[in-house]
Order: sequence, then structure tokens, then C-alpha cells
Amino acid sequence: MKLALILGTVAALADIFGGLVLVRRDWDKRYLRYFVALGAGFMMAAAFLEMLPESFKLSLAWAPVLVLGGYCAIHLLEHTITPHFHFGEETHHDEFLARHTGNSVLLGLGVHALFDGVAIGSGFALSSWLGWVIFLAIFLHKIPEGFTVASVMVASGRSRKNAFYAAVILAAATLAGVLVIALLPGWVRFGLPVSAGVAIYVAATDLVPEVNREPGIRMALVFFSGVLMFFLLRLLAPAI
Ligand SMILES: [Zn+2]
Ligand SMILES: [Zn+2]
Repeated sequence: MKLALILGTVAALADIFGGLVLVRRDWDKRYLRYFVALGAGFMMAAAFLEMLPESFKLSLAWAPVLVLGGYCAIHLLEHTITPHFHFGEETHHDEFLARHTGNSVLLGLGVHALFDGVAIGSGFALSSWLGWVIFLAIFLHKIPEGFTVASVMVASGRSRKNAFYAAVILAAATLAGVLVIALLPGWVRFGLPVSAGVAIYVAATDLVPEVNREPGIRMALVFFSGVLMFFLLRLLAPAI
């Protein structure tokens, strides 16, 4: 209950922050990078130490294939069909002018967000501990995710209003993913391994490159803090 309250408060604050980042031009965006780094570290730990072992428990034969499938599907959607995509603010305006690029980024991130929701739903379908851990792993990259899609929309010539709607579409896709597993809990045997592959992809190839772009070791330390945070949570969890 205490954990739920803490997470609920953090989620509410992050929602407010995320909304303000989109609306306010003068808002300091530097702190988003800390969410990216912390989220990447925590998500890596949660995917490798919780999502993968639980997936293998569901099906030792199929889980590895489904994990790889989830990983490859997001690579296809975010970086193959979409010619230019990276997490964080879109600043390469010269190579990024086509309007249709905005749509393909929205499609790629939309499917990714759907699996963010499937991951949370799958976690809670198995245990509340797994659900909370996955929720936190997903939550940490959600503010930068909404910011990313909005910034891509603006860079491809959309109005700020439409850019905001793009972030709303991602939110709806996430909710749809949670609903799929809530309505069809049996799908967890596919949902968990596929979303584990998606989570590994998002952490390792979407978020970590943004961490590595930063000079110095500070961002790397934030990444390791994310990993450490996972272990701390695991230590504290039985007491809550
Ligand atoms: Zn760019
Ligand atoms: Zn996401």
C-alpha cells in the first residue's frame, strides 16, 4: 500500500511534469536525460532479472523465440520502416523534413507504447510485485517518450497542438495494451516474453545511446543507479 501510494504520487507528478514540458517552451528539458538514463538502467535490470525468468517459466520452448521476436519487431518499426529515429529532442531538422516521417515515428512509437501497456498488464497478471516492477521500469521512460514524439511532430512541420495529440495517442496505445491483457489474461504467455524483448530493445538501443551521447561519466552513473535502484527495491519489497 505504501509502495502503491509512493508510485502513484511519483506517477502523478511525472504526468504534470510531462504535460508542462510539452506546453512550455522555456521549460528546462535537461532533467529528461536523467529519466532516460535512470529508466534505461532500471528497465535493463527489470527485463533481465524479472521479465525473462518469468517468461521462461511460462514456456521454456517459446519464450526465447518470442523475446527475440519482440526485439526484432520494434527494430523493424522504429529503425527500418522509420528512416530517422532516436529518443530525445529532434534537432536534426535538415535531414528530417518529410511530413510522412512524423507518421512513421508515431506508428513505431505507438506499437512500442502498446507493448509498454502489455508489459504492465502481463506483470500484474502474474503477481503484484512483477506488476509494480514493470510499471516502474516503463514509467521512468514515459515522460521522455511523450516528449520525443511531440518533438518529432514539431520537427516534421506539425503544430504544437498536433504534437501534443501525438503524445495522447501514445498514452491511449499504452492503455490499450494494459486492457488487452486485463481482458485476455491467458495472453500473458505471449505478452510477457514479447514485451520483455521490446523492453530490452527500448532500454538498450533507444535509451542507452542517448545516455552515451552525453560526455563524461555522470550519465553512465545515473544508468548504474537505475540498476542499483532495482536491487534496492527487491531488497525492500518484502517489508512493504
Ligand atoms: Zn534527429
Ligand atoms: Zn515506451
